[in-house]
Amino acid sequence: MLEALPEKGVPGEQILAELSELRSADLPTHGGRLFAYVYDPALDGLDELARQAHAISAHVNGLDPTAFPSLLAMENALVGAAARLLNGDGGTVGSVTSGGTESLILAVKAARDSRPELATPRLVVPSTAHAAFAKAAHYLRVALDVVPVGADLRADPAATRQMIGEDTVLVAASAPSYAHGVVDPIPELAAIAAERGVRFHVDACFGGWVLPYLRRLGADLPAFDLAVPGVTSISVDLHKYAYAPKGVSVLLHRDEALRLPQYFAYAGWPGYTMINPIVSSTRSGGPIAAALATLRHIGDAGYLELAARTRDAVATLAEAVNQTDGIRLFAPPETSVVCLAAEGVDLFVLADELAARGWHTQPQMAYGEMPATIHLTVTAAVAGTATDFAPDLAEAVAAARSKGPADLPAPLLEAAAALTPELVTPELIAGLAEGLGLGGGDFTRMAAVNSLLNVAPPALREALLTGFLSLLQRPAANGRQDQAAAAPNSVTE
Ligand SMILES: *Cc1c(COP(=O)(O)O)cnc(C)c1O
Repeated sequence: MLEALPEKGVPGEQILAELSELRSADLPTHGGRLFAYVYDPALDGLDELARQAHAISAHVNGLDPTAFPSLLAMENALVGAAARLLNGDGGTVGSVTSGGTESLILAVKAARDSRPELATPRLVVPSTAHAAFAKAAHYLRVALDVVPVGADLRADPAATRQMIGEDTVLVAASAPSYAHGVVDPIPELAAIAAERGVRFHVDACFGGWVLPYLRRLGADLPAFDLAVPGVTSISVDLHKYAYAPKGVSVLLHRDEALRLPQYFAYAGWPGYTMINPIVSSTRSGGPIAAALATLRHIGDAGYLELAARTRDAVATLAEAVNQTDGIRLFAPPETSVVCLAAEGVDLFVLADELAARGWHTQPQMAYGEMPATIHLTVTAAVAGTATDFAPDLAEAVAAARSKGPADLPAPLLEAAAALTPELVTPELIAGLAEGLGLGGGDFTRMAAVNSLLNVAPPALREALLTGFLSLLQRPAANGRQDQAAAAPNSVTE
């Protein structure tokens, strides 16, 4: 068991060895074979630089920029760089946040609080918009109006126009969407929002640091940023294609008046007057310093080069999908995502077979008319591994074909068919986890689990996965053995 508060302090060297051992159980964050969660430029020395920059500012507190002008300078520099990259002008302002979700929550908050007279403010998004918009709507009690996308997987301007009402405070779309990597028709959508006097946010959290370079390299992609009239705000995650360590995103507003309702200010207590532009109050300067170091080290020319490698890797992977019977591209590989669907082989078994060959992909469940798909986030590091993908993909498809769909025990299927979210209890989750072989912390063969989740209605899937995470997320001291079993031996006492 990993003991966070030992009776007596432990020597630093031992702790670092334990942490490395723990980390060895994780998916590899480098090496160009993990297609989700991590963004790797495969640049020698970059990790070390970011680590040192992080250490210099880790204890600096962003709560009060007058006390720590270093952080203010770094934040303004990051916002300025994002504004230039995304075609802002002298009036563009912004904030550095902890991530895409926070940037979106704040874009929605600013829009909501710009219309305090509304009893039920509303947010209009395409069905492919990131789940973080649903989270923002939920946290902020804003109603969410979801507009189905067209057959081309893009936001539908005419249907969006229909959905905008008197209470709409914000319309948003993606450049590109996370699930499929396609760019919504931002100019058309922004014009419609502007016509109605409604704010329009571009969620470029995923691709905002790679799209401008892909366009410079000649990619046929529409304008998507502050150059487009009607775009009032845009978000870009530096911990994605800017290749900074986790914990940094930028939210830009076209002008200061648009940003003002994003702030929270409170003087009604005996302590310091709290003025927060973002969700957290105390915050570390570490991620911000690491992001600044990353941007300055790579530089504009470096990002152009990384985008070229990413583009080439996408082309190689997409070609591999096209050349393989039994799978097809589900979305045009126009940015940095390859999204594939299966035809005649089980998609979830295929994902397991790819994982068994060292390629870690992200299965996406069926949604509405859309089938389940496999998502590949492609970063520059994949340029070094892309040509190895095709043979392994062909093998994995062949293996999936010969294995057929995952076997689910009949009693489990029967129980699942009768299940509703209200019936999901901690005991049921524990039993299911045991029955599906997840008790020991081995998540390498997930086809059975994914098949089950794929046929579960969304509300049931939410309840099941919430219950499962809640099962995992508790200290072993609560008297459970299985957590300890999942930890590496060397840190087990
Ligand atoms: C990643 C992502 C988000 C959410 O960002 P986090 O940093 O994970 O909070 C929002 N929108 C899009 C399009 C994304 O790709």
